[in-house]
Amino acid sequence: MKRNLLISACLLGIPCRYDGKRVTKVDVSALRKKYNLIPICPEIYGGLPTPRIPSERVGGRVLMKDGRDVTENYKRGAEASLDIAKANGVSLALLKARSPSCGKGLIYDGSFSGTLTEGDGVAAELLMKEEITVFTEEELDLLL
Ligand code: SF4
Repeated sequence: MKRNLLISACLLGIPCRYDGKRVTKVDVSALRKKYNLIPICPEIYGGLPTPRIPSERVGGRVLMKDGRDVTENYKRGAEASLDIAKANGVSLALLKARSPSCGKGLIYDGSFSGTLTEGDGVAAELLMKEEITVFTEEELDLLL
């Protein structure tokens, strides 16, 4: 029986990224052979529009490039993503690297200069706290 895999919707080519672009980063047909794919987009679930001004984590907060604080949107989106994971008995997730929501291990550092720092996106952090194993598209080989 195929396992359920939570996946960042933008990795499937759904145009929910901040810039509204459709960018497929993974071999979807290979993944489908092995998993039931359950797409999520925490930023949309948190009430943010597409396209939107990019955001980055700054300490405990998430700020848009224009300075607006969107921390609560990110938290709401993370909780909704966790609800979907729990409702589907998910224990594995494939999330978009470096995103302030979905990134794992390395994210942009809050300076909007393309600089990376150690850390996780808000949704990835919550999912991992709840014992869901998170991979990024850069670790796809480990899932296939
Ligand atoms: Fe992709 Fe996650 Fe950003 Fe949504 S929140 S666009 S799924 S990286």
